[in-house]
Order: sequence, then C-alpha cells, then structure tokens
Amino acid sequence: MQASPGVREQVGEAEWGLRCTLAAAHRLVAHFVFVDLTYNHISVRLPDNPSHFLVKPADVFMEQVSASNLVKYDLDGRQVLDSPYRAAPSAYNIHGAILRERPDLNAVLHTHSPANLAVSAQQRGLLMLTQQAMRFYGRITYYDYDGDDASREGSARLARAMGAHWLMMLRNHGVVVGGKNVPEVFIQHHFLELACRAQIGALCGGGPLVEPARELCEARAREFGQPGQYDATSRDWIAGLALIEKLHPDYKQ
Ligand SMILES: [Zn+2]
Repeated sequence: MQASPGVREQVGEAEWGLRCTLAAAHRLVAHFVFVDLTYNHISVRLPDNPSHFLVKPADVFMEQVSASNLVKYDLDGRQVLDSPYRAAPSAYNIHGAILRERPDLNAVLHTHSPANLAVSAQQRGLLMLTQQAMRFYGRITYYDYDGDDASREGSARLARAMGAHWLMMLRNHGVVVGGKNVPEVFIQHHFLELACRAQIGALCGGGPLVEPARELCEARAREFGQPGQYDATSRDWIAGLALIEKLHPDYKQ
C-alpha cells in the first residue's frame, strides 16, 4: 500500500499541494538517479508552521512516495500527524537539524548515488571539469562523516557543519542539498549528479584533464550557484512535473 487514506481530509489545501510537489520530486529523483534503496529522502518545511516539515516514510522507495504517505514531523523529531508510516531516524534527525539550524532553507535533499559517493571519497572532492560542476564553484562544504547521522547529536553536528552553505558533501557518504523550495533542490541536485558522473568518467579516461580558469568558474557560480533561483515556474520543474504526471500519476494519491 502506498497511500494513507484520510490525509487529504486532515490537511489544508496548501499542505496538500506541497505534499504533491514533494512526492513528485521523489519520483523525479528516482527517475533520473540511481538512489540507495529506501535510504535517501527529501523534506520540505510547512509555510504555515515553520517548525513542522514533511519527509519520506522509511519503508518505501522514492518511486513509491505519494502525497498521502509522506509523514509530518517537528524539528525535534516528533511525528505530528497520525499515519501508519514512520520516517527513519536518520531522515527526521538530519532534515530536522538542518531546517532548525537554517531558517533560510525550506527544503533539503539527501542522496547516496554511485557518482556522488565516488566523488565524496576523492580527496579533492568535486573538480571543476564541466559546466555543471562550475555552478558549484566555491559553494560546497565538506564534512568528515562520522557514521552518526541517525542520532540527534550527530545530525546537529552535521547541520552546524553546513555553516552558511546550501550544499554539503559528506565524505564517503553522499550529498546534502538545501534550498528555498522543492523544485530548487531537485534541479540543483540533478546538476550536481551530472557533474559527479562526468568527473568519474573523465578520471576513468586516464588522460590529462583540462581545468577551466578560476574566473570562468566564478562567473558560472555567480550566474547559477545562488539559492532562490529556481522555483515551481522553472522550466525544468514544469517539464519534470509533466513527465511524472504521465509516468506516475499516482504520486498525487
Ligand atoms: Zn545518508
């Protein structure tokens, strides 16, 4: 069972709309990215109660997330709407800690993809080898993952380590992308995923690499590397939503 009957009747129109958006984003990430079974998640803060957020339930794949099976938690890790579903401690702790630490962010996306895992294990991290990578020039902070992301204390350390960044690579673990809204974290994560895949491919090629001038990287990051530049009106989100409407119309259940 994917849907949780009765949720629509218990929440307002605004929350239901946000649930549909967050469910669609999970489906889109699953469509484009090889994710880690049930262990990756996206969250969004509720505008009418900034201490509450929606996040993926533990026992489903991203492909199985729907508007009604998303679960609601407060920033202290307490579930605040009855549901047969529960989030994993690593989900409500990481997302709760980041949203508490960063009132300027409203959405958080965390994945372990083969490409971002590989780059997270490389000492120099993300290299400026492609136009997709350059948008993140100077924007990424790196965190020495300590294996303790399921506890409140470990998640609080991780959230503090983000500082003022909106993009963090967890060494040997994966990535965290924060943003103003759900479409934004989906779009930025997609470009980061492309950059990581291209980097691994380029390094496998074995020949000398061409790294662009710092000025070019800075210009690219100034143009594309700011929070708040994507939202539901962005063409990539509109096209993505149309794709999910066609492939997985049950996301709205
Ligand atoms: Zn993780």
